[in-house]
Amino acid sequence: MAENRITPRAEDYAQWYQDVIAQAQLAEAAGVVKGCMVIRPHGYAIWEAMQADLDRRFKATGHQNASFPLLIPMSFMTKEAEHVEGFAPELAVVTQAGGKELEEPYAIRPTSETIIGHFFSKWIDSHRDLPLLINQWANVMRWELRTRLFLRTSEFLWQEGHTAHATHAEAREEAVRMHHVYRDFCHEIMAMPVIRGIKTANERFAGALETLTIEALMQDGKALQAGTSHDLGQNFGRAFDVQFQNDAGEREYVWQTSWGVSTRLVGALIMTHSDDDGLVLPPKLAPIHVVIVPIFRKDDEKVRVLEAANRIAAELRDDGLNVKVDDRVSLKPGAKYYEWERKGVPLRIEIGPRDLDSESVMTKLRVAAVDESGRAVKEVRPMADLGVSIGKTLDEFQTQLFDTAQARLTAGTVHVDTWDDFVDVFKDGGSRFVYAHWDGTTETELAIKNETKATIRCLPTDGDGPEAEPGKCIKTGADSAQRVLFAKNY
Ligand code: AMP
Repeated sequence: MAENRITPRAEDYAQWYQDVIAQAQLAEAAGVVKGCMVIRPHGYAIWEAMQADLDRRFKATGHQNASFPLLIPMSFMTKEAEHVEGFAPELAVVTQAGGKELEEPYAIRPTSETIIGHFFSKWIDSHRDLPLLINQWANVMRWELRTRLFLRTSEFLWQEGHTAHATHAEAREEAVRMHHVYRDFCHEIMAMPVIRGIKTANERFAGALETLTIEALMQDGKALQAGTSHDLGQNFGRAFDVQFQNDAGEREYVWQTSWGVSTRLVGALIMTHSDDDGLVLPPKLAPIHVVIVPIFRKDDEKVRVLEAANRIAAELRDDGLNVKVDDRVSLKPGAKYYEWERKGVPLRIEIGPRDLDSESVMTKLRVAAVDESGRAVKEVRPMADLGVSIGKTLDEFQTQLFDTAQARLTAGTVHVDTWDDFVDVFKDGGSRFVYAHWDGTTETELAIKNETKATIRCLPTDGDGPEAEPGKCIKTGADSAQRVLFAKNY
């Protein structure tokens, strides 16, 4: 990458992603710690905005936050057979502490079902203790082989919900509720459409009866698993002896769920909205909504313009907007425009001496329409009621970003009925969302993956995919009850 250059998407999509992150100063590879990253302040502010909204949704659905140890006794990990088998290759383990070999090594948590199961068994005794609805905001570690900033790192930040219920029906209801909470968050806050569905047995969380997922389409046609919600059945209840006395006075194992989203969502956000000029942020997650760039030449202009810029900023802040006045004298306005566009600030205000006389300002939206000569359209707005008019524009921008992403999802989705056509979609590094029939076996799923690198993202639910109609598997010709969603994935 040349300094300051953002590689165009069409030239090299993977490099574009790296460049957007570097230029917006969101994060960088830690380097000194394999597979880990440093999240820089601008990137962390986006994660904080995500956290704030999700946390509100979790609390509104009855959950409470708590914190459990980072280190998990290895014996806990091995109590649930499928769980340990699934996670063993990704575990980082502490074998020494305080200068001595530990009697029992600790795993650095890759996820906390086991240690939370241990405490649930202490806290739950009767049906009156249920449901127990806990969430933890934490960092976790999975020793990933191939990492990519935000999308897949060895250490990542996330939330993990863990709940226990008296019946399977209640646990199912909870898993579905949180699946829908994630979907609503993606749509309403991230402006990112997702497909809800069920994972195949092969892609299911290790130890779950069923995994619900939301899948998003990135601009290069690849899928990203954006969040998961698991029906754990009684598997962890049995492994950790989490029992309660039911109405009839009998001891029974609890029914559990767990669900999580991670800093991967920041990567999803970048890959959904950003363009060749850099980061694009939906207003609902933008740490800065509006940047004001004062324009002046002479000293007396500077005083007047800065005074007006600060007054406007204060007014907009009163209207609930996050505003930055870029009063640096070391940079020309053009350089400032460039910098804030790359950082994804949704709207810019330019204000100079002539604007003061006309009591108006010039504004430019981060993704603006272009005129006949190819120049981005700027708008003149009266200073009076500026907060109201900008608030309305930002609402429209949020909707515009969702609509654009939805249109891309629709255009990027195809129905495929023959093996030749299927192979064609995924050849030469290509990918799209493909709805095709599958015979329901892991064997066929893996054969398809081997030949095309496409995986089954989900069996769509909630009316998000095509209507269920029977057909024949694209690979084997065997009967299939419904089309499933295929794509290459991150
Ligand atoms: P899981 O516990 O495997 O269901 O994962 C919960 C959430 O964390 C899912 O939304 C995953 O997409 C996300 N996730 C899993 N592994 C990673 C990783 N290495 N880096 C970032 N996010 C991840």
